[in-house]
Amino acid sequence: MSQVSFPRMVELDAVTGLPPRKILDHDLPLLLRSMGMTGLPMCSIMIDIDHFKKFNDRYGHDIGDLVLRHVSSLIRKTVKFRGEAYRYGGEEITVLMLNTNSAEGFATAERICAVVGNSEVMAMVKGKEQPLSVRISLGVASTDTVEGSALLVSSDQALYNAKSNGRNQAVLFLNGSQKVVSTTVIDVHFPSQSAILGGNYILLKKWFSYSNPTDIEAREIKDPNTDSSEYADGVNPPYGLVKAEIRGRVSEIERRGNHTYFKFEVKSEIIDLMFKYIQDTRNANC
Ligand code: GH3
Ligand code: MG
Ligand code: MG
Repeated sequence: MSQVSFPRMVELDAVTGLPPRKILDHDLPLLLRSMGMTGLPMCSIMIDIDHFKKFNDRYGHDIGDLVLRHVSSLIRKTVKFRGEAYRYGGEEITVLMLNTNSAEGFATAERICAVVGNSEVMAMVKGKEQPLSVRISLGVASTDTVEGSALLVSSDQALYNAKSNGRNQAVLFLNGSQKVVSTTVIDVHFPSQSAILGGNYILLKKWFSYSNPTDIEAREIKDPNTDSSEYADGVNPPYGLVKAEIRGRVSEIERRGNHTYFKFEVKSEIIDLMFKYIQDTRNANC
């Protein structure tokens, strides 16, 4: 057995409340060796707060510290007993998880991404209590596909891909190639005013298109961040209304009068499904 047990009972970093980098450097080789002997995989998740410099610039370093501590504590709670979260440095956190393969590690990373992204911290901003939130990017690697000696650097490479692929997401490092999900951009017209913000992941709950799945009109939109729904003005089309939820990211937004136009990034594999929904719904109504 390694001499490491979780949660780590050591002197914790003052800002994050996590074990510091030097404990990570101490634990990693011991854990790799003991996991190597059992033949069980172990996983590393590299995490970095998105646009944290801007956040600090806007709200100040003290509030930045508060949020960093909040994010760290949420991550530590999410992996409790299975692993540990360490402060890698700055606003970067490394999670090590025992007996965790790539699929399980990726699922955990997606859960952490959602838990942190949907959480809020109350902070005094200009004398007023306000809920603040940040998003994170995550890179995942596990020894079922990566050499132990390359574990950290592989998860860091996946983190880099998560950042360049748009942030606020987890990316899995697979055997030398990264599972970067390709996206397609759809033009959406919402014939009402919408409060959604660029950069947010939202759900299109009801929508239709007369032909092209990359050019659609939304009739109902849900923003899971605020748990609010918006409905389009006017009547629904006489046929072709699809009630299949699509999750995607608003990459650009333009408001003109009572209309909102936006670019909506979805996983490319969704397009075929959308085309099928459009065909099926039309056939059922004609
Ligand atoms: P990206 O999405 O690419 O990660 O953008 P970023 O702004 O988060 O990245 P960058 O590396 O440029 O900046 C990291 C920032 O994190 C800069 C620094 O002010 C902030 N930061 C690092 N450590 C701490 C800390 O202990 N407390 C606070 N408040 N901020 C920190
Ligand atoms: Mg950073
Ligand atoms: Mg950052």
